[in-house]
Amino acid sequence: MTAKTGTVYLIGAGPGDPGLLTIKAKESIEQADVVVYDYLASPYLLAYARDDAQVIYVGKKGGDHTLTQEKINQLLVDKARQGLSVARLKGGDPFVFGRGGEEAQELLDHGVSYEVVPGVTSAISAPAYAGIPVTHRDHTSFVSFITGHEDPTKPSSSMQWDIFAKSNATLVFLMGVKNLENIVGKLVGHGKPVHTPVALVRWGTTSRQQTVTGTLETIVENVREAGLKSPAVIVVGHVVGLREELAWFDTKPLFGKKIVITRARAQASDLVTRLNRLGAHCIEIPTIRITPPEDLRPMQEAIQKITDYQWLVLTSVNGVKYFFDTLFAMGKDVRALGHLKFACIGPVTKEKLAGFGIISDILPETYRAESVVDAFKNTGIKGQRVLLPRARLARTILPEELARMGAEVDEVTAYETVLDDAGKQTLIAMLKDREIDGVTFTSSSTVSNFMSLLDKEDGPRLLKDVTIASIGPITSDTARSLGLEVDIEAKAYTIQGLVDALVTGVGK
Ligand code: SAH
Repeated sequence: MTAKTGTVYLIGAGPGDPGLLTIKAKESIEQADVVVYDYLASPYLLAYARDDAQVIYVGKKGGDHTLTQEKINQLLVDKARQGLSVARLKGGDPFVFGRGGEEAQELLDHGVSYEVVPGVTSAISAPAYAGIPVTHRDHTSFVSFITGHEDPTKPSSSMQWDIFAKSNATLVFLMGVKNLENIVGKLVGHGKPVHTPVALVRWGTTSRQQTVTGTLETIVENVREAGLKSPAVIVVGHVVGLREELAWFDTKPLFGKKIVITRARAQASDLVTRLNRLGAHCIEIPTIRITPPEDLRPMQEAIQKITDYQWLVLTSVNGVKYFFDTLFAMGKDVRALGHLKFACIGPVTKEKLAGFGIISDILPETYRAESVVDAFKNTGIKGQRVLLPRARLARTILPEELARMGAEVDEVTAYETVLDDAGKQTLIAMLKDREIDGVTFTSSSTVSNFMSLLDKEDGPRLLKDVTIASIGPITSDTARSLGLEVDIEAKAYTIQGLVDALVTGVGK
C-alpha cells in the first residue's frame, strides 16, 4: 500500500510588498506542511506558515545557487511523496520567468499533483509602483515581457530585436541589469530611436524601491552613476514618461526612511503598519519583552476579593490583557466586575477594555498619569478603594496622587517588562553604518532599554544625526536625561500622534 501523495502548490508570492499576496496564496501557505522559498519571495510571508511547518530556503541570488534547479525539483517530489502538502513560493508570478513551468512538468513526470497559484508579477507591479502603466491608449497598444538574461550576442539568439525595435510596444526586460548595455545596443542597432524613454526599477513595491530614468542614449550612464544593481526591471517605451505625472509610491512622505521601532514585538504591528503605509522602512529592534509577573498571587488575591473595590484603573493595553487573562484563568468572567467603575489612561487602553464589553467611566483629556488625577478630581474618590493592576516598577505619581485625594490604592503587578537584547548587534552595526534615519520611542522604558543596548558604545554620539522621535513629554524627559536630543515629540500622546509628528519632522 502506498501513502497518499501530497500536492505541491506553485505559488506566486508577489513582488515584495506583502500586501500584494493573493488570498489563495495566503491560504495555501497556511495549510502547508512544507514551505519552500527562494531569494525573491518576501520573508514576511513565512509568518503565515504554520508553527510546525518545515521551512526550507532554496536560495538563488544571481549565480549563488543554494540548491540547483534539479535538486529543488527533487525536493518537491520527495516531500510530496511523503504525503506532505508543499507550498513552493516564487517571487512574482511562478509562470513568468519563474521556472514554474519546468517544476510543473517535473511534478507531472513523477505523478505528483500540483496547483498553480498565480501571483502579481514584478513585470507589471514594479513599473506600477514607479508610476508607469505598462499600457496606455495614448502611447502603446501592447507590451512584451522579455528575458534580459540571454546573451544578446549569441548567434542562436531567439530574440527578435528588429520587431522589438520597430514596434511601439512597451518592452519590459527581467533579469537584464547586467546586460543593460547590450540590450540598449541591440535596440538602437535595430533602429529604435535613441530618445525612447527607459526606466529601471529596482526592488519594486518595497521601501527599498529605486528608480532610474533616462533614454536609450543616457540610461547606461545614468544607471552606472546611480549604482543601481539587480534585481530590477527595465522598461522601454513612451509610457515611462508618465512617471513624472503618475509617481505615487516613492513620493510618499516617509518613503525609504529607515525607522527603528523599539516597542515590544507583540505591540509593534500597529506602528509598523502605519509607517509602512507612509513608505517608511521599519526596522524592528524590540527593546522590551512583556512577560507575566513572576508572582501572580497578589493579582489573584485582589481578584478574589474584587467586591472590596469600587474602582479599577488601567494604564495600558498590557494591564488590561493580563488582568483579564488572570480573571479568566481563575474561572471568573466580566460579571465579577459589574459593580466596578473603570478609568483608562488612554484611548487605546479604553478600546482594549471595550473589547471585553466594558465602557470606561473616565478617560482623561491627555494620556498621562497627571491627567487621570485631574479627571478623578471631578469625580471624587475619597474613601474609595482602587485596584491598579499594572507593570512592575511603574511610575509612582498615579498611586501617590490618588492616595492624596483620599483613595485607598492597591497596586498589583499585572505584567513585567524585561530587556530584550536580541537585536543589539544588528542595531549597533546599522548605527555605525549610518543606515538609520530615525528611532521611535513609545515609553520611558523603551528609551532606557535602548540606551542599555548601547552601553558599550557612545550612544549619544552614534545617535547624533539620527532623528529621535518620542511619544510624549515623559518619554522625552527620559531620553534627555540619557543624553539624547529629542527632535520630534508627538502632540497627541498616541501611536497616531507619533506617526503624524514623524511625517512633519523626519529628516531634520
Ligand atoms: N517570476 C518573477 C520573475 C523572476 S525572474 C516575477 O513574476 O516577477 C527574476 C527577475 O525578476 C529579476 O532579475 C528582476 O528583473 C525581476 N524582479 C523580481 N522582483 C522584482 C522587484 N521587486 N523589483 C524589480 N524587479 C524584480
